[in-house]
Amino acid sequence: MVEATPPRKRTIDDLDLAGRRVFIRVDFNVPVADGTITDDTRIRASLPTIRHAIDAGATVILASHLGRPKGQRRDDLTLRPVAERLSELLDRPVTFATDAVGAAAEAAVAETPAGGIVLLENLRFHAGEEANDAAFARSLADLADSFVNDAFGAAHRAHASTEGIVRHVRQAAAGLLMTAELDYLGRALSDPARPFVAVIGGAKVSSKLDVIRNLLERVDTLLIGGAMAYTFFKQQGRPVGRSLVEDDLLDADAEVFARARARERRAVLELPVDHLVATALDAASADVLAVDDPAIGDRMGVDIGPQTLRRYATVLSKAKTVVWNGPMGVFERDPFAAGTTGVARAVADVDGTTIVGGGDSIAAVAKAGVTDRISHISTGGGASLEFLGGRTLPGVAALPDRVGTSRV
Ligand code: ADP
Ligand code: MG
Repeated sequence: MVEATPPRKRTIDDLDLAGRRVFIRVDFNVPVADGTITDDTRIRASLPTIRHAIDAGATVILASHLGRPKGQRRDDLTLRPVAERLSELLDRPVTFATDAVGAAAEAAVAETPAGGIVLLENLRFHAGEEANDAAFARSLADLADSFVNDAFGAAHRAHASTEGIVRHVRQAAAGLLMTAELDYLGRALSDPARPFVAVIGGAKVSSKLDVIRNLLERVDTLLIGGAMAYTFFKQQGRPVGRSLVEDDLLDADAEVFARARARERRAVLELPVDHLVATALDAASADVLAVDDPAIGDRMGVDIGPQTLRRYATVLSKAKTVVWNGPMGVFERDPFAAGTTGVARAVADVDGTTIVGGGDSIAAVAKAGVTDRISHISTGGGASLEFLGGRTLPGVAALPDRVGTSRV
């Protein structure tokens, strides 16, 4: 299948930011407990774009959502702690504006010296954000001269700060994180170095059905693991015991399973051949069984088995492009982590481009100690899945394509 590579989006590199105010939509939707940020990965991921804008001579206005306040001001969902952490990370002052629009926002921006940084309060304290309200989008746009979207993780939503705002600014572009996500994921879908191998696992097939459907058309091999294998097995009439199965999918998506079955015959799709079975998720140990073995009884499958891991590692060892989303088993528990850890090491050993996405998969890669050996960690979550599922992301579609080389 030959497909045109989608046009590249204009990037922050294409903008002349000297002396300008740039509004950067970031994804600072970090976990906060009692006012303390428990994981600042997303803040760190935005630092290159922020530093780039500062170095280019811009005044930076940052905006993000946090949680789901549904248009109400909520003290527990304020971005104030993020402003403090960001200031520490950048070793520069960050002014916090107590509202995203209106007098407080305008005053904070006006009072910030050229080259300074302002973080606006949670965008979702206003219902206009998620409603993609034109007046709210214009109020955001009016704070700045230029718009940069670096929030890939929010690009699958057509909200005021991701989509509507583009209609009200003079110039718009993708940030460095957004560009990296689009380059890596876009290349994998449209022009992958081959063999192209995808590994899909995790708990819910339903959330990844479009990804499986889309990747089946593009990969050389799709390796399935994790709980989702059991929905396939049940559909095939194999013994699944009390393993996690999404029964409602079996009829509704019979067509995908039929197509998967056809691909399986051509070895494009591979399912586990053996697995670990345990009496419960908190059991201390597990037995290795072939996936056809009825001895599973009323136990549940909790990890791929050693033979499956060897097969998958062999396929991966020849790959030039790998996309991995979803753990191979209940990796949070050490007795059930070998399959996931083994796949993490096999992906890290690949001599080619490797992309890992999904919160739990990223945690598994970290647990295996191989994060530095992955080409691209996709922090996009739901946006990554929609992109890999072949959908157009409204926040990306809104950004202008890159034309020529002159700066705007
Ligand atoms: P990601 O966050 O990487 O997209 P998912 O959220 O889809 O991954 O799935 C991760 C979860 O799936 C983990 O909590 C893991 O314990 C669970 N899981 C994987 N395999 C099994 C299994 N065989 N039975 C039950 N849960 C599983
Ligand atoms: Mg998850």
